[in-house]
Amino acid sequence: MPYSYDDQNVFAKILRGEIPIKTVLETEHSLAFHDIGPQAPVHVLVIPKGAYVSYDHFAREATDAEIVDFTRTIGRVCEMTGVTLDQGQGFRAISNAGAHGVQEVPHLHVHILGGRRLGRMLP
Ligand code: 5GP
Repeated sequence: MPYSYDDQNVFAKILRGEIPIKTVLETEHSLAFHDIGPQAPVHVLVIPKGAYVSYDHFAREATDAEIVDFTRTIGRVCEMTGVTLDQGQGFRAISNAGAHGVQEVPHLHVHILGGRRLGRMLP
């Protein structure tokens, strides 16, 4: 069944400025902000500004410029929040998708988690 993008999802509202956020970084094609319910000392969400539900949609439909911007934004957020390997830390980047991935908000997002040693989480 083809997916359809729900423009009433929380992150679409954030992109329209209807819900306040604590911005970490904004670029031409991406937005990074603190998760409202942090699961670690660093918990930042990175989203593309385009209407993509999941990574497979993004990879298939986004422009090269959007993909490069999104990927580099993730890296820059890691540097800005001090969790990179070069900074002696480490992090986890997760993107939940769809029913089996237990995705709550149907707009592509990558969770950047760090700031402490994280527990094992692969099922
Ligand atoms: P998912 O389960 O879809 O991968 O994660 C969605 C994430 O969005 C959750 O970690 C949740 O805390 C976060 N979230 C939901 N609503 C809001 C909101 O209004 N503002 C912010 N900053 N984060 C939100």
